[in-house]
Formats: sequence, structure tokens, C-alpha cells
Amino acid sequence: MCTGRVDMAFVLRAFRKGADGVIVGGCWLGECHYVTEGNYDALNLMHLCKRLLEHRGVNPERLRIEWISAAEGNRFAEVMNDFTEKLRELGPLGNGAEEGNGDLTAGLEEVAKLVPYIKLIKKDKLALRLDREEDYDDLYTREEIDGLFREVVSYHIDPEKCQACMICGKRCPVDGIAGGKNRIHVIDQEKCIRCGTCFEACPGRIDAVRKIIGEPVPPPLPEEGRTIVRKGAHSVRRRAAWRQTDP
Ligand code: SF4
Ligand code: SF4
Repeated sequence: MCTGRVDMAFVLRAFRKGADGVIVGGCWLGECHYVTEGNYDALNLMHLCKRLLEHRGVNPERLRIEWISAAEGNRFAEVMNDFTEKLRELGPLGNGAEEGNGDLTAGLEEVAKLVPYIKLIKKDKLALRLDREEDYDDLYTREEIDGLFREVVSYHIDPEKCQACMICGKRCPVDGIAGGKNRIHVIDQEKCIRCGTCFEACPGRIDAVRKIIGEPVPPPLPEEGRTIVRKGAHSVRRRAAWRQTDP
């Protein structure tokens, strides 16, 4: 697989499944066979991924990207031996300084769920093509990534405002909104990738989708309280069941 196809989600999955280290090997910069030069994208993405691992308490040295052409068998062996030695030194994942960082697997799972959001938020930086390889080292800072996690955006549909026009449900790229005709729409927070499409799509006069930053998302409206009963030009919500659950 071309390094340009390697996604942060693949790397995080490997760690979640118990890998002690991940190495990405690709063609040398400037020697890509394609105009896309995906190895630059991989380099950028792996630097971001290292910061994400660090944020969750994983030593970023457990992830490495190296340039090894198909003709460089000796170099491949040297790099792999060196990386193996490094991992022996670090010990199993969760060892040494990584201890006391809580459930690493759960933490990595949480990061993995946010990969589409992180790529969206960082799309301008991810598109950068820097002149020198070492310039990528400082592209992402620890503070920047901590801030990113502090300010993760969530979306919530206000049941008092939703008119079940169904626009948001049709536009959601991950089928993450439950709804239907005369049904108050509800975002499935597990599926939502926080793209903001529903926020943009909900008609301004209704304005039912809320953007939430740094606050918990209200619990979803129970199924039995989602039907909208319309009477003439006005709509009356059947919300008895929901009201019972209100604090
Ligand atoms: S933010 Fe995006 S992914 Fe989430 S529910 Fe809205 S449209 Fe779907
Ligand atoms: S676009 Fe707005 S009003 Fe229409 S279903 Fe979605 S949240 Fe409700």
C-alpha cells in the first residue's frame, strides 16, 4: 500500500489491538511514482498521529516513518532491527512512563473516533507541503493538540425546535441522525463525526441544531417522545414521555 493511503485510524487500530510499535515504510521523498506524492502526506499525518499518541500518554517513539526504496534490502533490515531494538528498550505498550495514564486502549479508542473530526479541523495544516523533512517535526505542538481535545465540538438537535423537515438526516454523511416524517430528529453521538453539515443544513428560521463546545451533550430524547402531532397550520408535540424524563 502506498504510504499516502496510510491513515491515522490504521495506526491507532494497531495500537488498540496490542501492537507495541508501528512503522510506516515508504519511498523516499521526491521519488514518489505518482504526481500526488503521497509520502509527503504520510509524513505530515504521522507527525500529527505522534502528537495524538503523546496526548493519550503513549510514547511517540512507538510510531516511526522511514524511507526505504524497494531496492534497499539492507536498509530495510537495518531499520527494522533498529526499531525492534527501540521497542525492546521501551517495553510493552503501557510500560514505564506510560504507566498511570489510565486505560490506554480506551483512550486510543476515543482518539480513533475523533479521527475524521481531527482531519477536518486540521485540514489546512495537513495540506501543507514543507520544503525540508525536519520542518515537519514542529508542525504540531503538544499545546495545540491538548487545546484541540479541550474544544471538541458536538452537535445536538433541540427537540423543542426541530420541525422534522428531514433535511439534516438526508445530508449527514454517516447516516448519524435518526428521524423520519413527523419525528423529532436525534443525533446518534456514537456515529457522528462532527462535520457540522447538519448545523449548516438546518434552515435558519428553525435553527434547531446546536453547536456545543466543552459541555456535555444532553441525553437523547426517548423514542416514545419523538412524534410530532400536527394540527392544522400549527404543530403540537407529543412530549409527555420526554417530560417525565426531564430533570
Ligand atoms: S455533525 Fe455531521 S456527522 Fe454529525 S450528525 Fe451532523 S451531519 Fe451527521
Ligand atoms: S434540518 Fe433542522 S428542523 Fe429539519 S429535521 Fe434537521 S434538525 Fe429538524
